[in-house]
This record gives sequence, C-alpha cells and structure tokens, in this order.
Amino acid sequence: MTAMSLSETVLSRIAAILGEGGLLRGDAVAALDPGYHPANLGAGVVAAPGSAAVLSDLLALCNAERIPVIAQGGLTGLAGGAVSEPGALAVSTRRLTDLLHIDPIGRVAVADAGVTLDALQRAAADHGLSPGIDLAARGSATLGGMAATNAGGIEAFRNGTMRDRLLGCRFVRADGALVDDLARVPKNNTGYGLTDLLVGSEGTLGIITRVAIRLERARPVAATALLGLAGLPEALKTAGLLRDDIGAPLRAAEVMWRDYVDAVAAAHGLAADTAALGPCPLALLVEVEEAPEGGSEGRFLECLARYAETGLVATVAVARNRRQREALWTIREDADAIYRLWPAVASFDISVPLDALDDYCRSVEAGLKRLAAPLGVYMFGHLADGNLHILVGWRSGEAVPPAALEDVLYPPLIEIGGAFSAEHGIGRDRRRAFGRFVPPERRRMMAEIKAALDPNGILNPGTIFAPPVRG
Ligand SMILES: Cc1cc2nc3c(=O)[nH]c(=O)nc-3n(C[C@H](O)[C@H](O)[C@H](O)COP(=O)(O)OP(=O)(O)OC[C@H]3O[C@@H](n4cnc5c(N)ncnc54)[C@H](O)[C@@H]3O)c2cc1C
Repeated sequence: MTAMSLSETVLSRIAAILGEGGLLRGDAVAALDPGYHPANLGAGVVAAPGSAAVLSDLLALCNAERIPVIAQGGLTGLAGGAVSEPGALAVSTRRLTDLLHIDPIGRVAVADAGVTLDALQRAAADHGLSPGIDLAARGSATLGGMAATNAGGIEAFRNGTMRDRLLGCRFVRADGALVDDLARVPKNNTGYGLTDLLVGSEGTLGIITRVAIRLERARPVAATALLGLAGLPEALKTAGLLRDDIGAPLRAAEVMWRDYVDAVAAAHGLAADTAALGPCPLALLVEVEEAPEGGSEGRFLECLARYAETGLVATVAVARNRRQREALWTIREDADAIYRLWPAVASFDISVPLDALDDYCRSVEAGLKRLAAPLGVYMFGHLADGNLHILVGWRSGEAVPPAALEDVLYPPLIEIGGAFSAEHGIGRDRRRAFGRFVPPERRRMMAEIKAALDPNGILNPGTIFAPPVRG
C-alpha cells in the first residue's frame, strides 16, 4: 500500500460525507489514545461515521478511490490488527454507541458496534442479566471489535466465544453495501451464516455496525479463592471437579504459573495476598456464583477442604472481603506489569487440548529456557478451555528471533490439535505464523472469500494476509 498521505481533495470529500466533527486530523488525532499498539493511529486521520448509512457512503468512496480502510473499535486488540499507516483511513466506531434494545424475556441485546463491553454489562445488569462474556479490557473493548476478533475471555469455557454469543449482525461491505443479518433469534437457518463469517474476520471482510448478542442470567459472586497446586494435572482435576461438585456455576478457573504471580503481585505490592501459596509452582484463581437456592459459598468451602485433605490441592486462600478479591483479580488481569518489567516481551496466545496440556507445557518451558538465558517466561490463562498466554521477556541485546520462539511453541501444538492463536486473532503480528502453520488449502479458501467480498483489497490490507504489492 502507498505510504503517501491522502490528498486534501480526497479528505474534503470524506469530510463532506462524515459531516460536522466526523473527520479527526492533526492535533485531534494526536490527542487520542492509540491503545495497545503504538502504530494504531499511524494513518493520522480518523473517520468517525455517525451512522451505518454514512459509513456506507464513506466505504463506497474509499472503494472507488482504492483507499485502504482500517476498522477501529476500542484499540485493545493484541495482534496489531488495527494498525494504520499514512495513506490509509482509520474508521472508528466511536460514534456508533447506541444500546438499542434489551429483551429480558428472550435474553438478547441489540447494540451498536461501538458500545463497550462494560457499558453492555452495566445495562444488562439492570435486568439481572449479563453478556456472559468478560475480559480485562472490558472498559474499552467494543462489541464490534470483540466480534471481529471472536473474543473469548474468562467465561468462554461455559458460555463460548463471541461466535457463540452473537445471534446476528449488520455490516457494511467494502463497496458500501449495507448487509442486514441482524436476526435476534437463536434459530435462523435462512442460508449461509454471514454473521459467522464476519466473526473473527478482523476488519478484512466488512465493518460491523450493529450486533444482536445473547445474554445470561447474572448471578452474584458467592466466593473467590486462590489455590496452590503441585502441577497442571492437579489444577485440571480441581477445575473439573469444581464444575460438577458445588452444585453452583463455576465462573472462573484462571491458572497462573508462579513466576507470573510473584512478578505481578510484587509490582502491585500485593505479595501478602499470595503468601498462602507457599512454595507451590502453580496457582488457580477460582470463583463461584450463587446458586438459585443459595448456599454456594458453604458447598465451595466444603469441596476445597476435601480436596486439601486428599492432597489434590496444596493450599487454599479464600478472599474474605472485596479488597482481597480485587487483589487476586488484579494479579490475574494486569499482565501489563510483565511488559513494564522487561524492555522486550514476545506474547503468545495459544489453545491446547486439555488432555495434552501438561506434556505440552513441560516441553515448551524446557524448550524456551534452552533458547537463551536469562529468559523470563510468564504463563497464565483460562485453564478450563486450555487457553494459555505465554509472555517471553528478555533484556535488551539478548532478543531471540520471534521465528525461533514460534519453532518451539507452534509445531507441537499443531500436531496435538491446538491453535496458535486462541483469542487474539492473526492481525499483523501473527501473519508469519499464519503463512507457516495454516494449511495452504485453508489459506487459499480464505483468500478466495476475501477476494469475493473485497475485490479491491481496501479492507484492512496487511491484516491476516500480507498486503498486496501495488505498482
Ligand atoms: C488487558 C487486556 C485483556 C484482554 N483479555 C482478553 C481476553 O481475555 N480474551 C480475548 O479474547 N481478548 C482479550 N483481549 C484482547 C482484546 O480486548 C480483544 O481483541 C477485543 O475484542 C478487541 O476489541 P476492540 O474494540 O478494542 O478492537 P480493536 O482493537 O479496535 O480492533 C481489533 C480488530 O478488530 C477490527 N475491528 C474493530 N472494530 C471492528 C468493527 N466494528 N468491524 C469490523 N472489524 C472491526 C480491527 O480492524 C482489528 O483488526 C485483551 C486485551 C487487553 C488489552
């Protein structure tokens, strides 16, 4: 794609379509938070359409003029999928923020793509409901961005990812056509699943403007505990038993390796909150919801006492109050603390079949440590669905080439039926892995779909696929 900035003539046509306040440039863009990738606002121009109809006119113009368009939501994506360059137009859903409808009977919400997860969570809570999906970036991540990346998070093991949560969506194609697939019923067999196609497409097939999303009954948290364990087999068994034994819904089973716990706890001055772990190499943060008939906390504590007696669980520390619960969640959710510790960090987000998780982790830990020393390896994740985040840090000058890290992590994963991107997508950062580890027939079919829906390649060029070379 060209690195030349958009001409003033084109920008004035774009501004005319967007209307008052719709095109941000110069200081207005400089004042924006670039989010989780420093180059997200590299285009230097951000279009913020106020309606799907305006977005439709905008994309028709961009398609005719071959202007690259980068869809942007809350900019919390962790794969570089929202990165924009000069000559492209960043198109933000920041003004598409209407939460249009909550149906408490059907348990469905209809909301614009720019609504944040947190805003939906609060609105649903007024009806005793919840979106059934939760992640640490909830304050900024938008429903459109979450759909486009097929976000998962803490509750995915019981409620599924965005692909399972979405009933329908409305989106604008590259040529400006507005496609309405916004059914809000769970059963809809009226042809190909276009919403499913858009989910996980990372802004390369269309820009999502509105979604219909399932809701669940919201239940209060009954108890939270940090368990110390001897290893992954014990952690997996404990999480499995807790899903069945308590008679109340398990809300979270988040695993953290000890190096991760200690580093983040120290960064926040929360070491006292993890002292009960003793020398255990692994920690499991578990949280249970109140069952309709009550009594969940008592049953939870009974189960934990039994597991401790039999030696399945080595240590149990139950959060006694809100501060302690928040401390435990801060440790789990502030992975940014690792980025602050190390000048360079490579981040991986993988899915491993549960019955292969222990062997995989042992071989990978050993493989990574053989690559270079001293090397910080921090692992944590959503245990119950086998989704691990692995952060590998090194000091300046000691960097291991990313391809060498991928050679340790990915080939064994592919063999056992795992995935090298669990919830963050391909974006730009995992393009090399996409080329190396996704079978050619799958890649070819994806390229054919992309070419059919966006023949001029204007939608997010450089995400998932390498950007086309233009003369
Ligand atoms: C602290 C933290 C914790 C996180 N935890 C989790 C987690 O537990 N689980 C998880 O799955 N993810 C997690 N993430 C990743 C991130 O929150 C998700 O990827 C989120 O879904 C991105 O939403 P966004 O609105 O910020 O999208 P953006 O970052 O703005 O965009 C992400 C991608 O989606 C595209 N896009 C954005 N909006 C649209 C749209 N309306 N139509 C089409 N394409 C669009 C962009 O082009 C880009 O490719 C975490 C991130 C952070 C920073």
